[in-house]
Amino acid sequence: ALMITDDCINCDVCEPECPNDAISMGAEIYEINPDKCTECVGHYDKPQCQIVCPIACIPKNPEFNESNEQLLQKYNRLTKSL
Ligand code: SF4
Ligand code: SF4
Repeated sequence: ALMITDDCINCDVCEPECPNDAISMGAEIYEINPDKCTECVGHYDKPQCQIVCPIACIPKNPEFNESNEQLLQKYNRLTKSL
C-alpha cells in the first residue's frame, strides 16, 4: 500500500482518481486506507494517485510492504465484495 505524508497540501486531485476508493480526507490531510490500496494493481500499470499528486508526497507505506502477488490478492478480494 502507499501512504500520504504530512507534506500533503489537500489539493483534492488524488481522491477521485483512486479505483479502490482508498483515499479519503482525514483529520488534517488526505489518508490512504491500506486495506483498500492495491497500489493500483489490477486496475492500472502505475499508481494513479502518484501520477496526479503535484508535490509527490505519496510514497510506499513501509508498514505495508506487499508483493505484487499480495496486491493482486487484495484486488481480487476487493472486487469480489463489490
Ligand atoms: Fe488508490 Fe492506486 Fe493510490 Fe492505492 S495507489 S491509493 S489504489 S490510486
Ligand atoms: Fe495531498 Fe497529493 Fe492528494 Fe493533493 S494529490 S491531496 S497533495 S496527496
